[in-house]
Amino acid sequence: MTRLDLRGRDLAADGVERELLPRAELDVEAALEKVRPICDAVHHRGTAAVIEYNERFDGVRLERVRVPAEALDKALADLDPAVRAALEESIRRARIVHRDQRRTDSTVRVVPGGTVTERWVPVERVGLYVPGGRAVYPSSVVMNVVPAQEAEVGSLAVASPPQKGVPGHWAAGLPHPTILAACALLGVDEVYAAGGAQAVAMFAYGTEECAPVQLVTGPGNIWVAAAKRLLKGRIGIDSEAGPTEIAILADDTADARHVAADLISQAEHDTLAAAVLVTPSEALADAVDSELTSQVASTKHAERIAEALAGRQSGTILVDDLDQGLAVVDAYAAEHLEIQTENAAEVAARVRNAGAVFVGPWAPVSLGDYCAGSNHVLPTGGCACHSSGLSVQSFLRGIHVVDYTRDALADVAHHVVTLAEAEDLPAHGAALKARFDWKVPPGK
Ligand code: NAD
Repeated sequence: MTRLDLRGRDLAADGVERELLPRAELDVEAALEKVRPICDAVHHRGTAAVIEYNERFDGVRLERVRVPAEALDKALADLDPAVRAALEESIRRARIVHRDQRRTDSTVRVVPGGTVTERWVPVERVGLYVPGGRAVYPSSVVMNVVPAQEAEVGSLAVASPPQKGVPGHWAAGLPHPTILAACALLGVDEVYAAGGAQAVAMFAYGTEECAPVQLVTGPGNIWVAAAKRLLKGRIGIDSEAGPTEIAILADDTADARHVAADLISQAEHDTLAAAVLVTPSEALADAVDSELTSQVASTKHAERIAEALAGRQSGTILVDDLDQGLAVVDAYAAEHLEIQTENAAEVAARVRNAGAVFVGPWAPVSLGDYCAGSNHVLPTGGCACHSSGLSVQSFLRGIHVVDYTRDALADVAHHVVTLAEAEDLPAHGAALKARFDWKVPPGK
């Protein structure tokens, strides 16, 4: 990996220029222009346009986009028992964590006779995107569906790109069978074979087969991110969860073999995936580099991983000490951040910006990808400094319910009228005056 030496720089005083740090040049703005005609076509021509773009980008011609119920049942019946057991465990742990995120309504008595209740109401219908281009992600079915179900969303649909199939094993024109099986395990029966921008547009506008949704969540590539950004407003979206990122803050106590294996594990997603090591130890950096050389060579997706590790989005950053390292990882705001240092929990507690933090040697990101119980749909591209990963909260809206008695309103009426006049909006004040025979009650 390329090296960036920040030692000797007073980062606390300088701040860390984010442009300095390795990051993929993902031009979502440029992609917006490419996805606009796709979204317009789906808006105006519905299913026919989804089928056309599926054929163009995924190379499969479909009769219909909705996956028949029998295909879901068959995928579950054919699922390898070990994969089924692993998915069930992943679902079980995700449920424990996400159930704990459920919120109860709360009422605050602001003044005698005046209350504000915060009611948490689930979004009515959501569209969940599950990627399926380079790799297929049944785990993303779990990570999308479990929080939506725990939030008690009334209606949910899943979309994932159609695959070319394997003759004699599984049919072309459907999402990958493990994705279908994961849907069936979770009791999801509305599934569409649609990928990329056309899937997001199908959810946003609705088609003959798919009723429109109010919210689209889920990770995906640049086309998915661009379509979500373009259609935001018509639909709500979660964060833009793009190509995956791992940053590792490690010192001399870290095991170079583990650090290298964890960097590789995320580079495996995508040639645009980012793997960043931040360390005050040049010896560790050297050891990780040589581990990477030997471990990448023996990995199944060696070419993809090598490209991701050599890309401008990946690299090793040398820092003076852990304080400087923390300043760097906060500026980077990684999707996944591992802390492999002495007193890892204390160091982790000081992190301000990250999608998820993995503490110490026994909590690799791969655990979080599948079976930690935490969610793996996390903000990328630095968005972790303002956004959170997917959670039950993503599927809820907080509604303020305001309830005041006549006396409670009378007590504050003069303030409301004064503020309305200060804003030159006298009709606002008049709405109160009308209730008190046009005489504002004097304040107490
Ligand atoms: P994907 O499903 O996101 O995208 C595949 C679709 O892209 C295709 O179906 C096609 O419709 C569309 N597409 C392909 N080429 C196109 C083009 N030239 N123009 C318009 N549309 C085109 O699958 P993917 O490509 O494998 O990407 C998945 C991404 O999701 C990876 O980058 C992975 O790192 C990321 N991911 C992120 C998280 C997270 O939480 N941040 C989790 C899992 C996966």
